[in-house]
Amino acid sequence: MKAITVYGPRDARMETVPKPEAIGDMVVAKVCRTGVCATDQSIYTGDSSFIRSGEIKYPVRFGHEWAGIVEAVGPDVKDIRVGDRIYGDNFVACGKCEACKRQDYMSCPTIWSVGTVNTWDGCYAEYMQMPERHVYKLPDELSMDEGALIEPASIAYDAFRGVTLTKKDTAVVYGTGAIGMVAAWLAKYYGAGQVILVGRNDEKLAVGLEIGADKVINGRKEDAVKRIKELTDGKGANLVIETSGSASALRDSIAACTRYARISVVSFYERDVDGLPIDPLVLGCLSMVGAAGRYGNAPAVCEIMRKNPVKLTPIFTHHVPFEDTLDIFANEDKYHGAKIKAMIAFD
Ligand SMILES: [Zn+2]
Ligand SMILES: [Zn+2]
Repeated sequence: MKAITVYGPRDARMETVPKPEAIGDMVVAKVCRTGVCATDQSIYTGDSSFIRSGEIKYPVRFGHEWAGIVEAVGPDVKDIRVGDRIYGDNFVACGKCEACKRQDYMSCPTIWSVGTVNTWDGCYAEYMQMPERHVYKLPDELSMDEGALIEPASIAYDAFRGVTLTKKDTAVVYGTGAIGMVAAWLAKYYGAGQVILVGRNDEKLAVGLEIGADKVINGRKEDAVKRIKELTDGKGANLVIETSGSASALRDSIAACTRYARISVVSFYERDVDGLPIDPLVLGCLSMVGAAGRYGNAPAVCEIMRKNPVKLTPIFTHHVPFEDTLDIFANEDKYHGAKIKAMIAFD
């Protein structure tokens, strides 16, 4: 089969590699869609902090957002059948240790991340192999695009853990990538009275309005914090979700809050965040929560994607044939202005 491996910064190659086999409890699926993620771009360029720290090592078979059709199942697979449309977790736990026996997969000491840290072979490939415990049937109502969006959606979903939103609440989302978009969409779904999306690109902000944001702010054109205060009668936001990875957005997240607000940080920062004002965070009794996903999120957010009449379809701004995948990474500038989620199409 064909698969893409990154050998070093800006050195990715599409190669012919052995097709994975359906042994034991493994499911082998033909990949139909692969989502292009900012993390993939930073692995490709070498800018990822995880490349610098050595947690992601070249060569890496990257890609962690996918959906496909089951082509073969191992002899120990119980419920998944050939022909099922499936999607997968973004990690694989060993399945044998004490933690795994309790299904406490996040505590597994030998956890592999799909296409990233301690790499499980990723999905810029014609086939994926995953143990049955880490794959799920995709509901008929959801497209392959939506199936491949469940992984980033499951990260955005984590930002709402322990949060209750009412009509009186304002939720602010910083960032107009796929995770920011899904966060705005979920904030509306969960009942926030007002959802404000802050970005730097009018085209992407317009997509935000389509999927549920009430107001959008272009941070290049106006002072976002000032505008958020105006839109909340001077009070500020009850929930801020920072997905942009920009240090200034993180600083602004604190300034944009009302008392007792919650800040969920759903982003990686390529550089250290210096000069972060912590005193207002303490005085405001704010909670700042890291959100990076966990076991159980994927099927939970999938169920919302199935039920919510507001569809995420406008997020899929590009479809690129698998043969042309490397163009997305090598010529990122060409796509960057309008790209929210690019999908690699295998058909
Ligand atoms: Zn991703
Ligand atoms: Zn384990």
